[in-house]
Amino acid sequence: MAQSVKKLYADTCQMCGLQLQTAAGTYSEVAHIRPLGIPHNGPDSLNNLLCLCPNCHTQFDGHALSVAPDGTVLRFGVPVGKLVVNARHELDFSQLAYQSEISSGKSQKSSTEDL
Ligand SMILES: [Zn+2]
Repeated sequence: MAQSVKKLYADTCQMCGLQLQTAAGTYSEVAHIRPLGIPHNGPDSLNNLLCLCPNCHTQFDGHALSVAPDGTVLRFGVPVGKLVVNARHELDFSQLAYQSEISSGKSQKSSTEDL
């Protein structure tokens, strides 16, 4: 799965368009939109994966960057661009909605319902 999403984008970042070159060839990282494992239980499938450069990946995992369900890339909630989506890459927009909820802290609601 990870290799196919990298191939689909030729190691080009879906958020900023950067294609990192190394002596060994181009380089990119794969990010899960909805995190794997407890408590998020995201699927390990192509529609839950993004091809990102290491910069964007780190900021995405650190919730500095997020993607709105319409594909708008947000930096701390401020639109900074549009996610590049290949026609052969069917993103699951419900996973994007879930991810932006995590980023905005709303997913805490299940554990802090008592407010
Ligand atoms: Zn990037």
